[in-house]
Amino acid sequence: MTDLLTALAGVVDKSGLLTGDDIGRRYTDTRGHGPAGTPAFVVRPTSTQEVSGILKICFHAGRAVVPQGGMTGLVGGGAPGEGEVVLSLERMNAVEGIDDSGRTMTAEAGVVLETAQSVADDAGFMMPVDLGARGSATLGGLISTNAGGNRVIRYGMMRQSVLGLEAVLADGTILTSMNRMLKNNAGYDLKQLFIGSEGTLGIVTRCVLRLAPKPLSTCTALVGMDKFESVLSYLSLLDTKLGGGLGAFEVMWSKYYDFVRERCPNLKPPLTPDHQFYVITEFLGADPDGDADKFENLLETASSQNLIQDGVVAQSESDREDLWAIREGAGEGFRTLSPMFTYDVSMPILTMDDFGRRAEADIEGAFPGATTLILGHLGDGNLHAVISVGDGSADAHKKVNDILYGIIRDLGGSVSAEHGIGTEKRDYLNWSRTDAEVEVMRMLKRTLDPKGLLNPGKVI
Ligand SMILES: Cc1cc2nc3c(=O)[nH]c(=O)nc-3n(C[C@H](O)[C@H](O)[C@H](O)COP(=O)(O)OP(=O)(O)OC[C@H]3O[C@@H](n4cnc5c(N)ncnc54)[C@H](O)[C@@H]3O)c2cc1C
Repeated sequence: MTDLLTALAGVVDKSGLLTGDDIGRRYTDTRGHGPAGTPAFVVRPTSTQEVSGILKICFHAGRAVVPQGGMTGLVGGGAPGEGEVVLSLERMNAVEGIDDSGRTMTAEAGVVLETAQSVADDAGFMMPVDLGARGSATLGGLISTNAGGNRVIRYGMMRQSVLGLEAVLADGTILTSMNRMLKNNAGYDLKQLFIGSEGTLGIVTRCVLRLAPKPLSTCTALVGMDKFESVLSYLSLLDTKLGGGLGAFEVMWSKYYDFVRERCPNLKPPLTPDHQFYVITEFLGADPDGDADKFENLLETASSQNLIQDGVVAQSESDREDLWAIREGAGEGFRTLSPMFTYDVSMPILTMDDFGRRAEADIEGAFPGATTLILGHLGDGNLHAVISVGDGSADAHKKVNDILYGIIRDLGGSVSAEHGIGTEKRDYLNWSRTDAEVEVMRMLKRTLDPKGLLNPGKVI
């Protein structure tokens, strides 16, 4: 242990190595997702060369390394095991530059999303990915989880934003693949190995991200609908008529909306609680003079076709924030739910109504009086479920997992839409992937990390 500490101290400066009581809660707080042990050390490098030096030392010593970004992950992916080495990218937080003509940003992995968004904004661009944890989540974490968020329907997930990256392999090899072009078919696209692999194949240290032009107008509405078929027709109408400008299509099932009305006094849900589905839609346009009319005309069309029964359109940025808060800001209500199990799943959009009905019936059948709240990025095929049942025991949690993931398996969906597998969903990976797929994942892991030292126990 002392030899390892001495060797690591030779790579990073004094504030780059934390031991004992200096290891704060930041490095062990998993937000209730997965148990965390006490790390032996936390190493906080400031360059790719330092990351490489740390990994070389740990490789020779056979010590497990857990990469961490902002620790906002929701599946225990960054949770350290007892005595493992935490490698936090938090000090690698420089935006290296913006290429205006190529519309790219080059940055270190520890840059916080909100910082990257603000640098992009100052340069006249927009970071395509946005999510609720923007104030803490880092680019490296977003890449390693292939994060989604609120604008996937328009811009895709993180994978669609990454043009190039630099990663360090378990043995300390630096793999620089900082491609800046949209097109590059020179052999295998190695960056894909590190996107969404949750730090199990390499540590992302830098990246080149694609930026989007800033929308010149934003129109947001909340509507109430009575039938799932109408939700699908409304999605199709907006998708077709907004010319690719549909930026968000978020649906809340009625029980979630009622929950917000009852348990979140700070939120202001403007519609009556008479509908089956509540949909937030956002149009990101390029014609500030005409877009509001275009959007409202479409809502009128939807109303005349009896797709929507009620609705409000945001008239100001503060109205818009109030509408989004209904979807994103229910934290105070969730704090009244104990125990609470959360789910992030995907499935063909056509099957979502079936999923909602079966989830409510099966969970409430197994746990009378259970709370089952469903909402999510319906336009992306991704729903979240918040479930409060029983005594919060591991047995109850497993029973709910089995019910929920069993429905997902029947519907041909995925146990993880955007949060990843981490430790929480590891036992269910093969409910969404074939044996052959899992075996190829294991082959990749063995090849790139032969001693199994990078984020052990996560994903596979
Ligand atoms: C309020 C809230 C809202 C959220 N909303 C969304 C959402 O809409 N969509 C969504 O997809 N997620 C969402 N998340 C989940 C979370 O923000 C994302 O998973 C995010 O990508 C994690 O980034 P992070 O920097 O916090 O990573 P961490 O939590 O630190 O790590 C996540 C995983 O990536 C690995 N990792 C981190 N950095 C690196 C690196 N540089 N190299 C290799 N591996 C690394 C870790 O080992 C771990 O496995 C939300 C979380 C919260 C708390």
